[in-house]
Amino acid sequence: MIRFDELKLSESVLAAISEMGYVEPSPVQEQTIPFLLENDSDIIALAQTGTGKTAAFGLPAIEKTNLNNKNIQTLILSPTRELGMQIAGELEKFCKNLPKIRIVAVYGGAPIEKQISELNRGAHFVVATPGRMVDLIKRNRIDISAIDRVVLDEADEMLNMGFRDDLDFILSKTPESKCTWLFSATMPREAEMIAKNYMKDPHKITVGAKNAGTDNVHHVYYQVQARDRYLALKRVADINPDIYGIIFCRTRQETKDIAEKLIKDGYNADALHGDLSQAQRDMVMRRFRIKNLQMLVATDVAARGIDVTDLTHVINYNLPDDVENYTHRSGRTGRAGKTGVSISIIHSRENGKIRQIERTLQKKFECAKIPGGKEICEVQLYHLIDKMTSTEVNQEQIEPFMERVMEKIGDLSKEEIVKRFVSAEFSRFLDYYKNAPDLNISVREGGREDRGERRDRGERGERGERTRRDRGERSERGGFERREYNGNFTRFFVSLGEKDGVNKRDLIGIINQTTKNRDIALGKIDVMRNFSFFEADKAATKEILKSFQDASHGDRKLTVEVAEDRAKSSAPRRREGGAPSGDRNRDFGGKRKDFRDGGLNRPRRRNK
Ligand code: ADP
Ligand code: MG
Repeated sequence: MIRFDELKLSESVLAAISEMGYVEPSPVQEQTIPFLLENDSDIIALAQTGTGKTAAFGLPAIEKTNLNNKNIQTLILSPTRELGMQIAGELEKFCKNLPKIRIVAVYGGAPIEKQISELNRGAHFVVATPGRMVDLIKRNRIDISAIDRVVLDEADEMLNMGFRDDLDFILSKTPESKCTWLFSATMPREAEMIAKNYMKDPHKITVGAKNAGTDNVHHVYYQVQARDRYLALKRVADINPDIYGIIFCRTRQETKDIAEKLIKDGYNADALHGDLSQAQRDMVMRRFRIKNLQMLVATDVAARGIDVTDLTHVINYNLPDDVENYTHRSGRTGRAGKTGVSISIIHSRENGKIRQIERTLQKKFECAKIPGGKEICEVQLYHLIDKMTSTEVNQEQIEPFMERVMEKIGDLSKEEIVKRFVSAEFSRFLDYYKNAPDLNISVREGGREDRGERRDRGERGERGERTRRDRGERSERGGFERREYNGNFTRFFVSLGEKDGVNKRDLIGIINQTTKNRDIALGKIDVMRNFSFFEADKAATKEILKSFQDASHGDRKLTVEVAEDRAKSSAPRRREGGAPSGDRNRDFGGKRKDFRDGGLNRPRRRNK
């Protein structure tokens, strides 16, 4: 095994990194550092997130810096402000014993003037986000015409985020003679293009399989009805009382909604998304970093910059659209030698996606069961007890109160005290989970569940308690096919579609639950991408409209209207796929109804 002091690094750098706890170089460092120290060459280094790429390019770049030269020598481009600041911070630490080296970070969301004056004071290293860099070049405030090297850090991310043109522009302002070092976790086609267009015979280093996830990450998925996603998330959080993780959502709106609901339900969570001001983002990040926040709900883009390395969990509230994003997400846990868990909450038709990710990552995913109430209560209770027994007692501080406290406790036995303490702290938890339904669904291979007949499901008892309960409430609700019913139907529009993970059967379930009347005959049901239509007994039109008035699905308000009405109000004829009109998410005002236990209060969780 090779040690850092065997690499040809200077004493001052070695001393600095050893102070940082670096003893052995990571595989990517072992390969890049000696090569870059000895060669003036372009390089492409592919290594997963968390494998120490910053030092892999930072240390050789520092060693190659000529302190007598006042020009910018190394330009490092980074996808986000957070990552840029993180890189600059690491470089500062590496240069602890080289105070003359100047490192300046420039990024959007902060006053440019201050950054310009920093640049004017001279910089050997500039760490920049592409957008701000372009801005500075266009204002003629930065000169990169004499740089020795440009580092494209997280190149795949920069391309993902649409910085292709900016990169082209920036690279066109750099000298022919410079070296280009491309660091990335993955190598998408666009990155190949950059390499082809801008790099000369690059030396290639790949650590681990391309696109492979970190070995320290355990991949788990839970399969639930799409509408149960949020409930499943709560269970996951509850069964992991010490969770410290990121919950990935697909859109800003979803991020906001989920965070809002978690907060309302007493979890220690907040959101990070593009609608926040820079100051707000910094605030959230600060709280997360110091573990004031346990769960951060974020979009992929917003999460890029999160530099927290000891996450216990990454939760995919929705699977990302491509495998690379999954790699990035899950790479945020299991870092620095620690193990982590990457959890995906999927609905019944997303098995294929899991298989695809498994194949690409060459990792087996565990299909886990959503924990039931009893299990969660047990875990929470023991967690509480552990917390109590490991609490440090500050004798001095509590001494003055003890006499009074003992008086109040009176003759209660130890057993009594324990029982009361547990009840006081815990009974709300027990209440919440008392009748908690089983959220698990099981799906036969081949997507039966998608088409599945309701009768079939009931008999197999797939959904345990809830199925039984449903059946108890209303025995034989019709199937999907047009029922034998001779009356007239009204056609309804409902603002739920495939994209919400809803199928015909789900829709019937929702109608059943919302109307609480099993005797309304249902007709044809058309589930489209963004919305659906269903037919129901004309006589029940008012009843249906009324019961859906305040309904919501998961985190969304539901709109149900008579289809003809909508056609009149939104003049142009609709075609499938397009939204019927802009008001699908119209707020009907008033209090919303949440399905099942979504609306219950959950015991408050305290910040630690
Ligand atoms: P990447 O850029 O590949 O995602 P980073 O450079 O951010 O990874 O490094 C991840 C973490 O590991 C950082 O906290 C860093 O200080 C630490 N680290 C990097 N290299 C080493 C090493 N050789 N020994 C110990 N810790 C290291
Ligand atoms: Mg990095």
